[in-house]
Amino acid sequence: MIVSVNEALRRVGEPFPFEWEGQLEPQNFAGKTVVFAGNAKLAGTYVYDGKTFRVDAEASVSYETVCARCGEPMIQTLTFPFSERFVRPMFKTEDDEFYTYEGEKLDLSTAFFDNFFLEMPMTTVCSESCRGLCPVCGMNLNRGQCSCSENQIDARLSALESLLNDHKEV
Ligand SMILES: [Zn+2]
Ligand SMILES: [Zn+2]
Repeated sequence: MIVSVNEALRRVGEPFPFEWEGQLEPQNFAGKTVVFAGNAKLAGTYVYDGKTFRVDAEASVSYETVCARCGEPMIQTLTFPFSERFVRPMFKTEDDEFYTYEGEKLDLSTAFFDNFFLEMPMTTVCSESCRGLCPVCGMNLNRGQCSCSENQIDARLSALESLLNDHKEV
């Protein structure tokens, strides 16, 4: 995820548009491996202020995951704003939140993944209308209806009946 910025280094204050698109390597995060699907994209501008680079872009990335309701594999796409500053290591201080760059290139990878993992939701669903799995037999209810729900209602009714009967006996 490298952007060549040699031109901007000579033209302070002028924003340069850029686009980056490519395949990302799988990343380890929170004990899991995140596998990306298709190309990630980053498009926006960078500008040099004489000391730091400011990058403002929009990121779009798709990754493999599973639906939290039905457990089916799915592809989740995230689009998020990416806004970071980059400074040469010699100007980096302990209390700034800048990333560093060297030479005439910005490597956006570290900043990109930091942003991505902040944006990544804890759970995803394949569709807002996903019906999930039957809690009794485990059937995927998006594929059809099992007979558990009827039996459950029967079970609840007979429990109610016996409760009423108990009450009568008192
Ligand atoms: Zn689902
Ligand atoms: Zn069932």
